[in-house]
Amino acid sequence: MRKKTHMHDITPESIEKKIVFHGEVFPDNPNRKFEREEFPPPPEPQRDIDVVIIGGGAGGLTAAYRLRDCNMLLLEALPQLGGNSMYCEWEGVPFSLGGQYIGVPGTWADSAWDLCRELNLHPEKDDSPLTVAFPGDVQVQNPYSARGFLRMPLPWRVKRDILRFYFFDMPRIDIEARKDELDQISFSEFLKKYSPEFRDWYELLAKPYPNTEDASAYYAITSAREGDYAEDKGICSFPGGLALINKTLQDKVEEAGPGRMLTGAFVYSVRHDANGRVLATYWRDGKIFTVRARAAIVNAESNIAMKILHDIPEDLKVAMGRMRRFSYPTFHFCSHQPIYRRGYRVGVMGCTIQAVTVPDWFCRHLGAGRPNILSCFNKMSLKDVDTVKNKEHMVRMTARVLTELDMRFTDMAAKVEAIHVFLRTRNYCIPYPGYITSVFPTLGRPFGNVFFANAEYLNPVSHFPDAVTAGNQAAAAVRKLLQQ
Ligand SMILES: Cc1cc2nc3c(=O)[nH]c(=O)nc-3n(C[C@H](O)[C@H](O)[C@H](O)COP(=O)(O)OP(=O)(O)OC[C@H]3O[C@@H](n4cnc5c(N)ncnc54)[C@H](O)[C@@H]3O)c2cc1C
Repeated sequence: MRKKTHMHDITPESIEKKIVFHGEVFPDNPNRKFEREEFPPPPEPQRDIDVVIIGGGAGGLTAAYRLRDCNMLLLEALPQLGGNSMYCEWEGVPFSLGGQYIGVPGTWADSAWDLCRELNLHPEKDDSPLTVAFPGDVQVQNPYSARGFLRMPLPWRVKRDILRFYFFDMPRIDIEARKDELDQISFSEFLKKYSPEFRDWYELLAKPYPNTEDASAYYAITSAREGDYAEDKGICSFPGGLALINKTLQDKVEEAGPGRMLTGAFVYSVRHDANGRVLATYWRDGKIFTVRARAAIVNAESNIAMKILHDIPEDLKVAMGRMRRFSYPTFHFCSHQPIYRRGYRVGVMGCTIQAVTVPDWFCRHLGAGRPNILSCFNKMSLKDVDTVKNKEHMVRMTARVLTELDMRFTDMAAKVEAIHVFLRTRNYCIPYPGYITSVFPTLGRPFGNVFFANAEYLNPVSHFPDAVTAGNQAAAAVRKLLQQ
């Protein structure tokens, strides 16, 4: 344990020039235009193709890769492909603006492992200790081991509740028998029987979703029974995080036929014509285009998809409209001087952000002189989702995150040279009370010649491998249709 000696004065003005925004970049982007209903009626189709893919996240890119021999077009609204796992580099160190790691083979990530093998990518197991950073530069390694648990600077009564919660109460709940009942209440409601200090601890550190109030008790208990962040079987990644997979898919599709993936192309209308073909209309650089395709794969997230799909069945539309989504901005602090070098994953206690990863951990071959990057993740509560649209607010949030981290990592603020901030509004789905039993089962059903390929339809809390599976499944269905 080291003690902090000096704190820096960090203001929004002092860091603004260091910030580069990615994703829904300011001052405007087509998503805002769409919200303001500024697009004209769709024109007649100018072009015929086999398949149009709407969205260039992992699901869309996987589908494009599988269908790269077809006459296809992928349309991505944002200036860069990758969706929730966009690729970025700073001074030779690649990192992901979103998705970071997958589970070891045989756990929750097999579809991603299969794809990696095919793409000749080799995820490496992270053998560094999971660490929790407390204020005052106190870092405790392996908090879920007996030694780490004892070293955590928490009152004994909180530790007693943690043990009771994980080892006594959680294993005893008959989760499947009580599924309907537990899915109707929030996890904060369920936690009322524990001490306030324990609830604070759980809120600040343990939960893998924005807050216990927004999460279904059924989902949260399932997660707690699996150990929340303990994930003792381990995780794997590589330089560039999961964005490297998206970048490689993108390269392969480009190799197979250049110019078939357009960025900055916002699709605002998708409908079937009288012959069952799909007409997709998009806005790009102030111009409007319509393509006619035999099939469409919709990778766009549900809150947008439900508005652009004009002949979607009512039950699907209602279910998609009932999904709730939070914003999940990330902050990547870059420096030539080491900030944190003792491992890859760091939980952060009592901070705006909930977790830190260290992408350069997987670039150790670059030696001790390599640039250091701390990637920080903020699962925002549902009520705050729209604040990511406000640039001043996000600059202030970046300053706050840096201030909080400066209290945990010695002299961090003085070292930071560049800050990459990734923003998307409502880019992550939350299993709120009632969602798993009454909304989730309806989602993702294809209709007409429209197929869905987004991770959120396969898993209430979606992960990268779900997007790969969704892309594989949609591509297989389209392939079958094209062969008829
Ligand atoms: C910060 C963060 C960290 C994460 N960490 C992990 C992790 O460590 N491990 C893990 O397994 N998973 C992680 N995930 C989850 C994982 O990244 C996602 O599940 C996965 O990337 C989702 O891919 P997708 O293709 O289903 O959706 P998305 O990535 O959301 O792709 C949808 C795409 O559609 C585009 N689009 C939307 N509307 C339109 C339109 N009208 N026209 C054209 N295009 C449109 C969007 O811009 C976007 O590019 C993380 C996610 C985030 C945000």
